[in-house]
Amino acid sequence: MTYNINEKGYYGEFGGAFIPEMLYPNVDNLQKSYKEIMYQPDFQEEMKQLLKDYVGRPSPLYFAKRLSEKYKTQIYLKREDLNHTGSHKINNTIGQILLAKKLGKKRIIAETGAGQHGVATATVCALMGMECIVYMGSIDIERQAPNVSRMKMLGAKVIPATSGSQTLKDATNEAIRDWIQHPVETHYIIGSVVGPHPYPDMVARFQAVISEEMKAQLKEQTGNENPNAIIACVGGGSNAAGAFYHYLENEEVQFIAVEAAGHGIHSGESAATSVLGSKGIIHGSRTLLMQTEDGQIIEPYSLSAGLDYPGIGPMHANLIHAGRAEAVSVTDEEALEAAFVLTRMEGIIPALETAHAFAALEKMKFKTQDVVVINLSGRGDKDLATYKKHFETYGK
Ligand SMILES: *Cc1c(COP(=O)(O)O)cnc(C)c1O
Repeated sequence: MTYNINEKGYYGEFGGAFIPEMLYPNVDNLQKSYKEIMYQPDFQEEMKQLLKDYVGRPSPLYFAKRLSEKYKTQIYLKREDLNHTGSHKINNTIGQILLAKKLGKKRIIAETGAGQHGVATATVCALMGMECIVYMGSIDIERQAPNVSRMKMLGAKVIPATSGSQTLKDATNEAIRDWIQHPVETHYIIGSVVGPHPYPDMVARFQAVISEEMKAQLKEQTGNENPNAIIACVGGGSNAAGAFYHYLENEEVQFIAVEAAGHGIHSGESAATSVLGSKGIIHGSRTLLMQTEDGQIIEPYSLSAGLDYPGIGPMHANLIHAGRAEAVSVTDEEALEAAFVLTRMEGIIPALETAHAFAALEKMKFKTQDVVVINLSGRGDKDLATYKKHFETYGK
């Protein structure tokens, strides 16, 4: 049993590349060349150097003593929040910008939800002197204003997506439309393990540095490279894919994928795809998505812009479908509460996305000696305006 991708680009029955004909040459070329390019020695050397000296890797693995006492288990935090630009997204954009350079592309496009992927893309474009266009839903432009200013300061053009729920799905639609119009000179840096093959696998491989480091750090700190469980929030699923990657075939390590339930799974305002979703095609891949009986996408909702997506990456659809990963849903309120718990107990303000992963601790049962790693995917600076609205309720 493998939980990795097969030669055809599928995880079990999920994945593939369902794309308009105009994109066929681009995607076909990527499929044929991505592994060859990314594992060339000079590519690996440049990437590792940048991850170390520019991003600040390895990110620490921190034993959270007070949180461990509260939940009566051994909790370690993988500190992706300490990366340059404040989240795990930079691991992928460093890799993809180097790939775009090798492919001879001059123009970069990206979609963004919370703005973290937009900032990480604008950052590497500045670093490499490339043109950068970021599509972002108008609602997200409003609720993630600090990241919009960052992207503009970095020289990126931010284009609002005004259709649908005006969030991540709609930004992705606009980015794909742009790519269809400019297929030759443009590389599309997708920000998660979604999209047509090879994106889900390519992004997972760039994010796999998270579990690679985790293994060595756990070995050093606990004597065992395997934790009992890994918890990560899932929008498209890239930080979870990175945290799970080197443990995929090791079934003794439990995977917990935390989705956003918005106002409640069955409230009609949710993004809990694994519960509400059915098989279908979104943004070029066959996966689980929230849709009506006749295949219209149901508009997702989460307070957290990075989790506000009606689909889930095909790797996670397969992991959950096969019972390898357990999906847990967390509401806006539960995530807000968990954000304040982490802040007051460990002095770490998490991204609102990441706070969902911490809220799962309230719903899980672990043994006292269990080692549980939470992937702390990003920091909360961008969410301060949202948190501020809830000081009265949770910050007493
Ligand atoms: C983008 C983002 C996420 C969600 O994206 P994934 O691809 O599911 O990881 C989660 N946390 C943070 C901090 C993010 O910026």
